[in-house]
Amino acid sequence: MATLIHNGTLLTPTERVVEGWVLIERDRIVETGRGKGPPADKIIDAAGRYIAPGFIDLHVQGFRGYDLWDPSQPRYLKATRAMASTGTTACQASVDATAEVCDIMRPRIGRTDGGARLLGLLFEVPFIAPDKRGAIPPDRIREPSPGAAEEIIGFSEGLVSMITMAPERPGAKALIRRFREVLGPTGQPVVVAIGHTVATYDEAVAGIRAGISHCTHLYNAMTWMHHREPGPIGAVLIRPHVTAEIVCDGVHLHAAVVRLTIACKGAARTCLITDAVSGRGREIVDGAPRLADGTLAGSILSMDRAVANTVQFADVPLATAVEMATLSPARVLGLEGSRGSLAPGKAADLVLFDEDVKVSLTMIAGRVVWEADEA
Ligand SMILES: [Zn+2]
Repeated sequence: MATLIHNGTLLTPTERVVEGWVLIERDRIVETGRGKGPPADKIIDAAGRYIAPGFIDLHVQGFRGYDLWDPSQPRYLKATRAMASTGTTACQASVDATAEVCDIMRPRIGRTDGGARLLGLLFEVPFIAPDKRGAIPPDRIREPSPGAAEEIIGFSEGLVSMITMAPERPGAKALIRRFREVLGPTGQPVVVAIGHTVATYDEAVAGIRAGISHCTHLYNAMTWMHHREPGPIGAVLIRPHVTAEIVCDGVHLHAAVVRLTIACKGAARTCLITDAVSGRGREIVDGAPRLADGTLAGSILSMDRAVANTVQFADVPLATAVEMATLSPARVLGLEGSRGSLAPGKAADLVLFDEDVKVSLTMIAGRVVWEADEA
């Protein structure tokens, strides 16, 4: 069965196609074009809206009242389906690095079940700096020892797709190299990210040389940049191959810092993330969940708002912000060949939205999983 989505503006990595169409067969995009479009069994009228690849959130813990690590499958699906309603078609879940959590998450990996597809697990803990743990309880932090690494690899191999490291901690560099040898759920090596760190510039660069290629919520939970000690932020901004994720909720970062990041790294190396949490049991103060002392504890951001905010904060074209929510995160996980853009052969994960990035329809694997009432 073929589905045609037509009468919309396609956002491809290279161009905006007005009056564009996308032809889908089963779970893949087979063709895109301009004009009337070929006949199909099912036709969806985009009514002049944007047709974009689905958003990929590399860093999310929970959503709208539900945690991704919740053992209850119905509650897990409430989170991933709510994410789909905001245009997120795939995600990487930030969860605790424990055997119990891995047992809960194992059957969910790679599946959609009508919600955002779980691409893999992100372990932000345990090998981070105690002084930059943010909202993470201190008892979760461990010494970066080979024994601790092997224990984690033992229960998480094939599930974990990214791990955060503070490279300045003794033993961290050996662990960075070790995790790079481990394969994640899509057959790609585990991505090692710098984050929750007090590294100096030199320590950050040494970590990057050992295999760090990404940065967990750049700027947040790390030493700030000083002109005589650029620290981890300076290292990430200046090293061209290191990708960075940013939380564009208007709380975690100043608008000018969003602009600075894109100026240094380009949209291709910058990923929009939500770092969203369920929000349960936390007070929302000044636009974000916080601990009693005011420390930020994730966000209540959604990917559609992240895209809209980025356009506003950084004064970039919509297509640029969309790239940061689609192709850039796909590339971080080595999945740019199969998702992240509107191109033949890629996953039929699509989203329709208006100029305010208000999502009206979400398709995952060729199936409409969410539609706004007025659509
Ligand atoms: Zn964090």
